[in-house]
Amino acid sequence: MAHSHLLFADDIFIFANGRTKGLKLLYKWLALYQETSGQVFSSEKSKLYLGAMTNVKKQKVKDIFGFDEGCLPTTYLGIPLVQGRVTKEVLRTLVDKIIKSATGWAGNMLSLQGRAVLIQSVLNSISIFSMGIYKWPASLIKEGERILRNFLWSGEPESKKACMVAWDKVCKPYKEGGINLRRLKEINQSLMMKLAWNFLNPKDEWAEFMRAKFITKSGNFSTITKGSSIWAGVRGALEDVSAHSGWVIGDGKCINLWRDNWCSPLFLKDMINDDVIPWTDLNAKVSYIISEGRCSIPYNLQLIFDRFGVDIHSIKINHHKPDRRVWKPDLIGKFSTKGAFETIRNKGQQNWWFKFLFRSDIHPRLSMWGWRLCHGKLPTDDNVQKKGITLAFRCCLCANNSKSIHHLFWDCSFSNCLWTWLEGLFQVQILDKNLKSFLEIGDSMSPYLKDLWFGAVWGGTNLIWLARNNSICEEQSFALDQEKRKWYK
Ligand SMILES: [Zn+2]
Repeated sequence: MAHSHLLFADDIFIFANGRTKGLKLLYKWLALYQETSGQVFSSEKSKLYLGAMTNVKKQKVKDIFGFDEGCLPTTYLGIPLVQGRVTKEVLRTLVDKIIKSATGWAGNMLSLQGRAVLIQSVLNSISIFSMGIYKWPASLIKEGERILRNFLWSGEPESKKACMVAWDKVCKPYKEGGINLRRLKEINQSLMMKLAWNFLNPKDEWAEFMRAKFITKSGNFSTITKGSSIWAGVRGALEDVSAHSGWVIGDGKCINLWRDNWCSPLFLKDMINDDVIPWTDLNAKVSYIISEGRCSIPYNLQLIFDRFGVDIHSIKINHHKPDRRVWKPDLIGKFSTKGAFETIRNKGQQNWWFKFLFRSDIHPRLSMWGWRLCHGKLPTDDNVQKKGITLAFRCCLCANNSKSIHHLFWDCSFSNCLWTWLEGLFQVQILDKNLKSFLEIGDSMSPYLKDLWFGAVWGGTNLIWLARNNSICEEQSFALDQEKRKWYK
């Protein structure tokens, strides 16, 4: 299957073989187009990309068109175009772009929440473009994530900060303990799955082209790259796609009897599981065993279905329609990149605190504070860190000898006064002093009080932490009344 041209954005790509006669005609046609349309193509911006041919021949082609010869690798719309394997070096510019945008943001002026929003925007733009074409090498993904992680915690792409929540935890939905960021590897793979899905269900010319090139005569997927920079990524995602897709059987003409999962999650080939059979030569379609809208199964095949408990006659067949591949995780079988991402992402456990924390009535800054508190990764004041004190031996608020976090927030006489006062205000009494019991009691309050209560509990913990940092730093003693007033605000 050959392509004559592609139109993309304001550009036109023309594919041709190197015969002089044809090229001369093509040039004539282009000239005619310029004349009649009034549009002129720029010979400076136009380039010739020539395949393997002698220098004499190359010169001949250049003479016909008067364009310069372009060479790969080059960049098109910000995407490096290469022939063959995509190396780390090729995609380097894309990582440089991430660094550049992260440096330009003045991240140290922003809150953690603000930086998370910016990272989200980078992840979105990456997914639209560069990650949707090539499979990124693992080392490059690691580097990209290091930059984003540094930026999240320090505001700068190259400077690392202690006291961070692990990146894998950060990149989870709220309910699984993250802040809704996504792993680059999973973004990349879900986009590769989109290419793979389109490859398996061709609607566009590129997919037809790829199929002609990469599906062998025996119906297998080619294991060699054939100079393509894209095929490796597509092929690497085919398995993830077929693991989550199934078939609505129509006339059976598209489905491979042995190597598609049309009757059970397993391929027939894997049920039979016999290496002696030359599977690659077996190309029968399911239509082979459908007659008059019903399955008619050879006896030895029926034995196999029986052994695996597959009730072949209960499978519905619409023999007047074409077969349709369906994406199983979706109700109507429609594939989406978002859905693909959801099926492959590394899932975390649901936590109890997210519903108290990420609420519209709680300021994002306070949510981020609570999130770090729940992960036990508390932000220390920079001044405290400079002094080299991470956790004082004695509680700096009540002079007790305990340095534990639990003491500070819940047992300390200072904190206790604050909590008792808050309980008085809301007319509740909480015997078991800890974050969970404080938050959970809010569930039984009226909606309006509930919002205030959750805000007050998170705000209270934050206040205690700030009071601790201040007292370490400035050796200030605490006026409880003053702290209460701060809380009111
Ligand atoms: Zn204390």
